[in-house]
Amino acid sequence: MQSSRMPWDVVVAGAGMSGLAAAIAAAEKGARVCVLEKRKRPGGAAAISAGAIWAPKTLGRIREYVPDGDPALQEVLVSRLPGDLDWLASHGLELSPTEPVGGLGEGRNMLGGESGSHERFMGAMADRALKLGVSFSYETPLQDVRREPGGFEVRTSAGSTISTRSLILATGGYQGNTELLTRYLGADRARHLYLRGLPESTGDGLMAALALGAKTAGDMSAFYGHTMPDGNIPPEDMQPVTPYFARFAILINLQGRRFVDESAALLEEINPQEGCRQPEGRYFLVFDRNIYETYGINQQVTSAIPSIDRLALARKLDVPVYEAGSLVELASAIRAEGIPAEPFVHEIERYNNACRSNAGTYLDPPRIRHAIPIEKPPIYAVRCVPGITCTTGGILIDTEGTVLDCENRPISGLFACGVDAGGIFGRHYAGFLGWALVSGRMCGNATVGGRIETPYPGGGMTGVAD
Ligand SMILES: Cc1cc2nc3c(=O)[nH]c(=O)nc-3n(C[C@H](O)[C@H](O)[C@H](O)COP(=O)(O)OP(=O)(O)OC[C@H]3O[C@@H](n4cnc5c(N)ncnc54)[C@H](O)[C@@H]3O)c2cc1C
Repeated sequence: MQSSRMPWDVVVAGAGMSGLAAAIAAAEKGARVCVLEKRKRPGGAAAISAGAIWAPKTLGRIREYVPDGDPALQEVLVSRLPGDLDWLASHGLELSPTEPVGGLGEGRNMLGGESGSHERFMGAMADRALKLGVSFSYETPLQDVRREPGGFEVRTSAGSTISTRSLILATGGYQGNTELLTRYLGADRARHLYLRGLPESTGDGLMAALALGAKTAGDMSAFYGHTMPDGNIPPEDMQPVTPYFARFAILINLQGRRFVDESAALLEEINPQEGCRQPEGRYFLVFDRNIYETYGINQQVTSAIPSIDRLALARKLDVPVYEAGSLVELASAIRAEGIPAEPFVHEIERYNNACRSNAGTYLDPPRIRHAIPIEKPPIYAVRCVPGITCTTGGILIDTEGTVLDCENRPISGLFACGVDAGGIFGRHYAGFLGWALVSGRMCGNATVGGRIETPYPGGGMTGVAD
């Protein structure tokens, strides 16, 4: 640990996509920037993501798909993403050409890695920030923040105290914090959630902002996640094993019943939100050979999610996968899981009959699209749990990224971006990497709005390593 006194223009908490975009944006305009990161290395969740940086193409499209999100922030996202992707590329980051995503939008993919392993890309982003003079302190989490004249005093868990004119919160949400999940989602839902992401995002940004008088935004009980095979899944396999194709299959709970319109969300993000309300928070993904071969291997979302044999991967990860020649055989095989055979068979037959007579919308719960009967053996059932990738409620910001207080007044010098900033998405979701990039750059730019030349009135920094 180096001991120095140095007036920072900007401290960024978090070195994921939003924090790094913020740091680069502020540093390229001449700000002195220090990034604090809880982990040993940069990258955050982006490093284990599919790497698709995308958004719906128009405001109309995002409003239609995410009506409970903030329209002003959504407009920022859709109008700025293409230019911000060019900006990222102009900093030497390798991106694919633009391509469609999930029938909902378009974007560009991180290159130089694989789905679930984008450390190289995120490392290159951190290197770019370093070249612009940004200072990084790893394993140095922001712990708490106090107002001081002209800025903030930031304390880290490593025992250092830093003074800064502007503070950007980019700590990635609160999905890693059981206590906060319990507070906002309720104990019944929270205890069933499986963390499909990194454990370091424990709501530190949110707590710091609330302590400074910030208001929350968006539905604090909503989250973005996926149905996840129930096994020991290392971070790099979380993306590859994710069954986006659940929207073409059906989900059956321990009572042998469907509980959600599996096709309601284009990226199946509603399924885990309902799945965590089911008995024991467990459910089964049921499909046949036809569905698996058509949608399970090539999941038809984006080329960032490559075609692989997901069933083989799930089995390798010790996920219980049942396979049978008929529905009755399957029912008898998964009776050991506590699912009563008769209701299970009856439910699937009812579903199949509705699909065959185009009556999916009359089912309870209905099936509005992709109503494909489950009939071509082998028939599979994969034990699953509701995965949470990140929370969608968070800190209230304006369209420059400034944090707002309980009376919607800006808290001068305090910014939030990425998952920490709440309200752009709700129960439906449309691209967190795109939002992290756009909101991060927006905050970095906002910190340097002509203010960095004036003398710094506060103290300095002690005990933070470069
Ligand atoms: C498996 C998987 C696949 C995904 N695929 C996609 C995809 O293809 N497209 C897409 O749009 N989205 C995808 N996402 C979601 C997307 O990756 C994240 O939502 C996005 O990267 C969040 O960026 P962020 O900067 O807000 O937060 P994060 O990336 O989570 O970064 C936050 C950083 O802050 C650090 N931190 C936490 N607390 C502190 C503290 N107190 N002080 C300092 N640092 C702290 C954390 O260690 C972390 O590095 C995926 C996510 C996962 C998990």
